[in-house]
Parts: sequence; C-alpha cells; structure tokens
Amino acid sequence: MSAAALTDLSRLCVHTITTKPWPVEEAARRFSAAGIGGITVWRDALAGRDIRATGRLLRELNLRVVSLCRGGFFPHAEAAGRQLALDDNRRAVDEAAALGAPHVVLVCGAVPGQPLAESRKQIRDGIAAVLPHAEAAGVKLAIEPLHPMYADSRSAVNTLAQANDLAEDLASPWVGVAVDVYHLWWDPSLETEIDRCGRNGNLLAFHICDWKTPTTDLLNDRGLMGEGCIALRQIRGWVEQAGFAGFHEVEIFSNRYWAGDQAAFLEKIVGAYYQHS
Ligand code: ZN
Repeated sequence: MSAAALTDLSRLCVHTITTKPWPVEEAARRFSAAGIGGITVWRDALAGRDIRATGRLLRELNLRVVSLCRGGFFPHAEAAGRQLALDDNRRAVDEAAALGAPHVVLVCGAVPGQPLAESRKQIRDGIAAVLPHAEAAGVKLAIEPLHPMYADSRSAVNTLAQANDLAEDLASPWVGVAVDVYHLWWDPSLETEIDRCGRNGNLLAFHICDWKTPTTDLLNDRGLMGEGCIALRQIRGWVEQAGFAGFHEVEIFSNRYWAGDQAAFLEKIVGAYYQHS
C-alpha cells in the first residue's frame, strides 16, 4: 500500500547540490521563502565560509540543517591514503558539528581493481576509526549504500542489506544508514531491509529523486520525482512504516537542471513533491 499524498513542505529538504549554481546563502533564502523545511549542505558549498555563521543563517531562515554531505571514501591501496581519508572524515564531523548538522552522510568509497572484499574491510575499519571522534562531537555517521554501477570507484557498499549488516556490526548509536531511492529502488529485498533498518533504529535519512529511462549519464542525469520509474510513494510508505519521521531530501545531480533557471527548477521540485513523493 502506498503512502498518502503529502500536504505541506515541513518535511521537504533540498540538498545544496540539487541547486548547485546557487551559493548556499541564496539557496537557503530561496528554500525558506518557498516554505521548505530543511536543507542538506554539501561541503563544497561551505568553502571559504565561517561554518558556524552559515549554520546560524540557516536557522534564522527557519531551515532545519538535515545533514552534511559527505564523508567516506575510506578505501585506498596505500596506508597513507587511508590515513588521509580518516583525517578528512574527522574534519567532516567537525564541520557538521559547527554547522549544526546531526549527521554526516558517508559515500563509502572503492578502489578500481582492488578486491571489493578488501575495500569493504577498509570501509568498516575506517568507520570504526572515526567513530570515537563522531561520538565526541555528537555527530552521527550515515552509511549510504550506492547503486552497484558505482562499485568500481565510489562505493563497495551497494545494497541496503550490506549497509544494515555494517551498521549492526559496528553496533554504535552513532552509526546509521541513509536510504536513497536512486541507489536502492531495484532491490527485491528493499521493503524487508527498510523494515529491518527502521526497527533497529538505524534509519537516519531518506533521499529522493527518480530514475530516468534512458539514463544518459551515470552520475549527473538523475530525474525529478515523477520523471522516471521509481515507485516513490510506495517506498515512502515502507520508510514511514519502519518508523521514519524525518525529512524527504531531494538530491538531484542533473546537468540538464543545473544548466537551467534554478528558481523555475525549485518550483518544479515543490510541485513534484506534492504530486509524486
Ligand atoms: Zn543520496
């Protein structure tokens, strides 16, 4: 059974990367003016900013800071590379704390040519190594499984079952999972694994967009909700059934939309949210 249509924007969150041409300040003003309840900030949007001041600005605009994107990329062939990744993840945790974001989303990483089992071990070890810092800062780490088409280079964690296994194995209240429909919509175990994730208290974030046919670019051709084949409302029903009451985060990487008028795009996002999410 699908969830009922949404009737307000209080749980709509938009990622800064969705409207990438806008600086974070302008994105925040526009989201706020549209009545959108939350914002997820990508780290590139914070370059050159006083992060605490940016966090204050977002709150003054009545936006909830939903998460910081992103940390991760733990696997490396060399130990020195893995150490740099740990340093960077600790910085991401500090940035989230300064911004007031409750968690950092992890794109876990992979190394082309390195066995996936080795990358997965390095991911587990990397998260475990960053955990004490995250706990001290009061920031959670959200493991985001990525579609298997990215298993070569972006993430060796590719199903929600794997992410659930990893989070349960790490067994910390400071580790959870981010469910992104773009990465997981095809999985026959999705309903079961969403239920497991929610029941174990590990469901931290819910990312939405759509899968276009054909998809012309594996990274930057995501669709707006309703433009593709994802059973979005059904998946939202599963997420809510599992106890999730957080934000619906619109995360769209799209060369097509980035090239267009961002104000018109934001209007489309709001319309699609009501109609399809
Ligand atoms: Zn995502």
